[in-house]
Amino acid sequence: MKAFLIKKEIIATETLALQFEAENPIEFQAGQYGIFELIAPPFTEEGKPNKRVLSFASSPKESPLFTIATRKSPSAYKRSLAILEKGQAIELGRIGGNFLLPTNTDRPLVLIAGGMGITPFISMLKTIIDIKRPYQIKLFYSNHSRKTAAFYDELVLYENSLPNFQYIPVLNERFSSSILKKYVPDILTPTYMLVGPPPMMDTVLPLLITEGIPQSDIITEKFSG
Ligand SMILES: Cc1cc2nc3c(=O)[nH]c(=O)nc-3n(C[C@H](O)[C@H](O)[C@H](O)COP(=O)(O)OP(=O)(O)OC[C@H]3O[C@@H](n4cnc5c(N)ncnc54)[C@H](O)[C@@H]3O)c2cc1C
Repeated sequence: MKAFLIKKEIIATETLALQFEAENPIEFQAGQYGIFELIAPPFTEEGKPNKRVLSFASSPKESPLFTIATRKSPSAYKRSLAILEKGQAIELGRIGGNFLLPTNTDRPLVLIAGGMGITPFISMLKTIIDIKRPYQIKLFYSNHSRKTAAFYDELVLYENSLPNFQYIPVLNERFSSSILKKYVPDILTPTYMLVGPPPMMDTVLPLLITEGIPQSDIITEKFSG
């Protein structure tokens, strides 16, 4: 279905949040992605599709409004998306994904995001605020710097609206066992959710396994193309 651009905002260095209104109500669960296709984009690359997989960064309750967020890049897709104007449409294709909040709220959750991997967690946090369920959450968010950390201020505000939520920005350093253990002394108790670009996933997942966290306690989503 078509979705029309309502708002475009710079939320970090080279990072955009785009809010759309779909022509019909949409259904998704926090953590899921959509396939977003540009319609007659100004830039194209031969042999490369005009569509990308992008996670929702809004609560399903906001439907037919929804938000996506992405880093700018030299790709034709990203250059075209960056200059999309208010009122212009994109095509929202299939919605899917199994990167979902566990239903059990008794067990604490440790969320670990790198770069744009923060988007599904924003959707989850907004949803938890909407449904008022007592999740206990620690969120580690790795970025090169404060300037490249998307949704930074919003995450700080969530610490006020969510009673059992702690935001731990990991800036100018790599996520490590010592950072994890500093904030999560009993590392075997929580369920882990891990999302980000392949290089981050390929280092953080083995780190958690090496620390003895069973793979069955780690839910992952790799932001590969
Ligand atoms: C589940 C999931 C959720 C994601 N959520 C987000 C999100 O919320 N925000 C975000 O910014 N990114 C997200 N991504 C990553 C996103 O899909 C893009 O891969 C990423 O943003 C880089 O896009 P690009 O245009 O800059 O890079 P590019 O490398 O130019 O494009 C990557 C895409 O192009 C395809 N492609 C590349 N080269 C070719 C070729 N020669 N022929 C055919 N196809 C080619 C790839 O398969 C891939 O789809 C997500 C990925 C996944 C899998």
